[in-house]
Amino acid sequence: MNEISVPRPNSLDAFWMPFSDNRYFKGDTSRMLARAEGMSYFTPEGREILDGTAGLWCCNAGHGRREITEAIQRQAAILDFAPTFQLGHPIAFEAAARVAELTPEGLDRVFFTNSGSESADTALKIALAYHKARGEGTRVRLIGRERGYHGVGFGGMSVGGIGPNRKQFGALLPYVDHLPHTHGLKENLFARGQPQHGATLADALENLVALHGAETIAAVMVEPVAGSTGVLVPPVGYLQRLREICDRHGILLIFDEVITGFGRLGTHFGAERLGVTPDIMTMAKGLTNAAVPMGAVAVRNGIYDAIVDAAGPGIEFFHGYTYSGHPLAAAAAIATLELHKTEDLPGRARAIEPYWQEAVHSLRDAPNVIDTRDIGLIGGIELAPRPGKPGARATAVFRRCFDAGVLVRVTGDIVALSPPLIVERPHVDRIIGTLAEAIRAEAA
Ligand code: PMP
Repeated sequence: MNEISVPRPNSLDAFWMPFSDNRYFKGDTSRMLARAEGMSYFTPEGREILDGTAGLWCCNAGHGRREITEAIQRQAAILDFAPTFQLGHPIAFEAAARVAELTPEGLDRVFFTNSGSESADTALKIALAYHKARGEGTRVRLIGRERGYHGVGFGGMSVGGIGPNRKQFGALLPYVDHLPHTHGLKENLFARGQPQHGATLADALENLVALHGAETIAAVMVEPVAGSTGVLVPPVGYLQRLREICDRHGILLIFDEVITGFGRLGTHFGAERLGVTPDIMTMAKGLTNAAVPMGAVAVRNGIYDAIVDAAGPGIEFFHGYTYSGHPLAAAAAIATLELHKTEDLPGRARAIEPYWQEAVHSLRDAPNVIDTRDIGLIGGIELAPRPGKPGARATAVFRRCFDAGVLVRVTGDIVALSPPLIVERPHVDRIIGTLAEAIRAEAA
């Protein structure tokens, strides 16, 4: 691959990189990505980096899909922007209808946002507005889970359960509780797919109901499979139990499907794969294949009806973004969802899952590996931390992989994998082979 022409920045100073070690990166710029195509990124020098993470869990159809980029270009020439506050443009309605085709039956009302974080905050606000509309305005408590990640808005951050993401930012939202996460049972180590033990961890919700009273609790928000915090796959029966407890007490169940949506688990959404239908679900990432930012929240029709019907004439829900349903994002979503259908991306993910699972678990005997886990096209490989230096071992493995031409993602001492759904066996072999090599080299 030849060197390609991209503008070289004169300075790296101005861009404050998110969730980054800015000083480290700016001192060593070898990890720039300039171009992408199919399963790969390319550095400005033209070095190929096989993408083991679909960007950030988002480029499910692979990179540089012309069906999507051309749809965006066409749309930009037709209608660059129009508001959706008290106005409409056809493509936003069409995009919502396409999303509703894929969501579980009965979750057919779709609110557009620009990101997973905005989707999380929107979902929480919908839950609160719903109870209020039904005359149950005492339901203000929001319940998340330890190690949950719901983005970085104040709602999602507060309901989320990641210490470092919260500690810098003061008091956060009041009236928030957290369920225990579902990870760490010894019997579940090296589980293939959903682990067998731990469904009763959901009963912690009953304890919160007993403590606070159901009449104070609005919603529970969980990721069907927590990705960002290290691939935590729910035990068999856990989500069902959460659903039952929510139903018993009139609590809304929100699934954050930002990672698990659009084929990642071999189904349109995690809800389908895991056999539990939430009341509200958030999405983003794979919705547009990440070619343009877009998020969405799908809600049970009755939730929309309650909020809309309770309002008098005028605005029903005091919430929205300038770019809700942005024409370019809507065009990207429609083109992406078309690809999902024509290429049956969930079906592709299902077809290669057994091979992927074998490959991920083949790492169990590599040095310092203390757990391997998987579901759909997600893999997690947990390494024993270096004494006194949490995260250092996995970070070193990430760097070795990148230098060897494979992109993996690390969170703490866990390597998280989520290749584009177009991944083929030779790619799997290279991702896992390179990772095995890096883990071995790091132990030497
Ligand atoms: N929720 C979940 C489950 C996520 O994984 C993420 C991003 N990894 C978000 C929300 C936040 O999405 P964004 O970065 O688009 O705001």
